[in-house]
Amino acid sequence: MVWRPYVSFNIWSQFVPPVGKEYWHCDMKRGFTRARKKELLVKSLLEQDTIPQQIGLLAQKGIYEFHQDIQLLCQSNGVEIVAQKLKLAQESAEVQQRVMKILENYYQSPILLGKKIIQLSRGDEGIPEPILIQQGNYFFNLFAAIDCIFIELNGKLHILDFKTGKSDFDRRQAFVYLLAATYLYPQQKAVASFYNLENGKQSELITATDAQLKAIQEKLVQIAQEHQKELQRYKKNPSDFADIFPANPGISCRHCQFTSICQFYQFEVSA
Ligand code: SF4
Repeated sequence: MVWRPYVSFNIWSQFVPPVGKEYWHCDMKRGFTRARKKELLVKSLLEQDTIPQQIGLLAQKGIYEFHQDIQLLCQSNGVEIVAQKLKLAQESAEVQQRVMKILENYYQSPILLGKKIIQLSRGDEGIPEPILIQQGNYFFNLFAAIDCIFIELNGKLHILDFKTGKSDFDRRQAFVYLLAATYLYPQQKAVASFYNLENGKQSELITATDAQLKAIQEKLVQIAQEHQKELQRYKKNPSDFADIFPANPGISCRHCQFTSICQFYQFEVSA
């Protein structure tokens, strides 16, 4: 396979934090995740899912299991059966409690029930197939791990992204998915939305004009180029790690996976 520069919403969000979340942003996290991911210590940390990641993954698998056997949504013990399929009893108390709540919520309000689903991911499929995009002379791969796509009654594609936890919806992700849809399903119009499986919060339907999608594509080209530049810089001068990926210690360390190996880790003292 031909190697190409690549980008995803995840990479974009690691470059530019959502508005209002700047305090949580640390470029060094991106450095560990992207430039040093093959180092043994970093690799082992990346392989350990954080609690929010475990909950997100199990929640996605739970929804998938409900729709593998739709009868589970009618059975009185449907939630318990799905919990067993997920081997939830092996997880920590916090993960068990929050995922059970998610399964119960979905059982009560199965928003995909009766929908014409054309794609529903399990969440652990790994890296999705790249979407080849050409912008002028520049070719790059876009990776878009879409949770679910169904068809609306009016024939439009609806791209649905599941969330857990308290984080706000980031509209940039919806725009990246809408751009991906123009390549994957060029004949069909699409809308996107978010749904939080823990609190039942649903976003409005998000659409994008051709001009907006063009701007998103240009932004992705810029991020893909910056990403490659950084990786090359680090490869040539590994000792410049902290200059290429500056640390932002403080609140951002609170949920960081790299506290055990980061020399800038700051233990937050509560007021
Ligand atoms: S421990 Fe703190 S400073 Fe170090 S990478 Fe993580 S967030 Fe950044």
